[in-house]
Amino acid sequence: MHATPTAIGHYVGGRLLAGHSGRQQDVFNPATGTVTGRVALADAAEVHAAVAAAHAAFPAWAEVPPLRRARILFRFLELLHQHRDELARLITAEHGKVFADAQGEVTRGIEIVEFACGIPQLLKGDYTEQVSTGIDNWTLRQPLGVVAGITPFNFPVMVPMWMFPIALACGNTFVLKPSPIDPSPSLRLAELLQQAGLPDGVFNVVQGDKVAVDALLEHPDVRAISFVGSTPIAQHIYETGARHGKRVQALGGAKNHMVVMPDVDLDQAVDALIGAAFGSAGERCMAISVAVLVGDVAERIMPRLVERTRALQVLDGMNPQAEMGPIVTDSARQRITGYIEAGVREGALLRVDGRDFDARRAGPGCERGFWLGGTLFDHVTPSMSIYREEIFGPVLSCVRVPDFAAALQLVNDHPYGNGTACFTRDGHIAREFARRVRVGMVGINVPIPVPMAWHGFGGWKKSLFGDLHAYGEEGVRFYTAQKSVMQRWPESTPKGAEFAMPTAQ
Ligand code: NAD
Repeated sequence: MHATPTAIGHYVGGRLLAGHSGRQQDVFNPATGTVTGRVALADAAEVHAAVAAAHAAFPAWAEVPPLRRARILFRFLELLHQHRDELARLITAEHGKVFADAQGEVTRGIEIVEFACGIPQLLKGDYTEQVSTGIDNWTLRQPLGVVAGITPFNFPVMVPMWMFPIALACGNTFVLKPSPIDPSPSLRLAELLQQAGLPDGVFNVVQGDKVAVDALLEHPDVRAISFVGSTPIAQHIYETGARHGKRVQALGGAKNHMVVMPDVDLDQAVDALIGAAFGSAGERCMAISVAVLVGDVAERIMPRLVERTRALQVLDGMNPQAEMGPIVTDSARQRITGYIEAGVREGALLRVDGRDFDARRAGPGCERGFWLGGTLFDHVTPSMSIYREEIFGPVLSCVRVPDFAAALQLVNDHPYGNGTACFTRDGHIAREFARRVRVGMVGINVPIPVPMAWHGFGGWKKSLFGDLHAYGEEGVRFYTAQKSVMQRWPESTPKGAEFAMPTAQ
């Protein structure tokens, strides 16, 4: 017997609200395939109400000294530690990822809050005394106003937390539009922020789809948009947001390559590839989806990749033995199996077929869940769709190349440029790779090089539209406008009218 699905609504002006648009979407537990919730999909009027709440809260919040904003974030940090496992359970229940992985997601979000707690230092401006006789010049950074975040399904806690802790710390107010696939964690975050002492209206959540996104993109009071999701939508957000005069950072999709050199420590490379390809069922923008096997390493590594892919513990995410959980939705599973069919059709060698996975092996009650095993392709070539396109599932494509130059060329020729890795013991190769590769985030013997909170996250090419990366100091710059002030006191240098361009005197 299944419980009645929970109604999942919005959070506006410090209150949980039911949706009024009449539109809603089912929320599933991907492990069992059951509907556990119904999320409201906002119409434009509901989005306008959230923006109005954020707009009304902005002047007072912007006046709060950064140190006091930081103190609220410190309290939020404490609450996040206390509720880490509860948030992780919410993630696993709607996303499906393994519980330990969900705990890791919350921890990576917590790190951004830790960074944002240093906001008094981060907002400290520059000052130059005596730029000319009796004149001083300084720069400061001020909040923008209402800013919005539009986030993907695959990190329902971490990705919103790339955005709002820094935006709020800088003195902005925030409207979050999470993915309707796993909407519940966003509401819990809103409650924890309120419990930490955040004034009502400073942080708001509107659930929804394209209708809500378009209303945010067009709203004159939304000053900036942070987006994370797939490339076609990222490009749409960037172009539409810019057309409406907004600052936009839009992080897109990925096709991350891991280059495996012949001198590699084979055990390390196998562990890295299996974890990075199949962790979170490959539904990570930093997942490794292409292994570039250089020279004779291909023959040596392939039997081990086959064995490990077959041995993956694909189980209900709440089972402590699980290494990989289900796929997020049935339609995502169908998209991924479509790619597996295309790979076979286009001539790649299917070494392990995840379509063979028997859902009954995943655990009791999982028969109707969205299951797929790990899939391994060999002899993949650049013309195949499984190489060119983002699959976003547990499918690892192996490409064989003769040498390092060919490997580097392959990575650089790919239209995506989010993350990449090179596994080698050769310092020169490692250095050349890091310098010459045209990708935003690089790992040397590190398969998933997600930068720490103070370094900032962002890809190149079709993986990022906009100038500034997410979080870190780039995040502070994104959520603030720089102002330069030049001052002279009447007593310091009395002067008559000046008609020439002023210069230092
Ligand atoms: P998605 O692009 O389908 O959705 C992202 C957000 O956009 C969601 O909030 C969704 O409701 C909204 N959206 C969807 N279609 C829309 C439309 N037509 N108009 C306006 N808004 C729309 O992405 P997803 O499936 O939720 O997430 C997976 C994708 O996100 C993958 O491509 C992955 O690589 C990418 N991703 C990128 C990063 C990164 O940092 N570069 C991080 C995580 C995920």
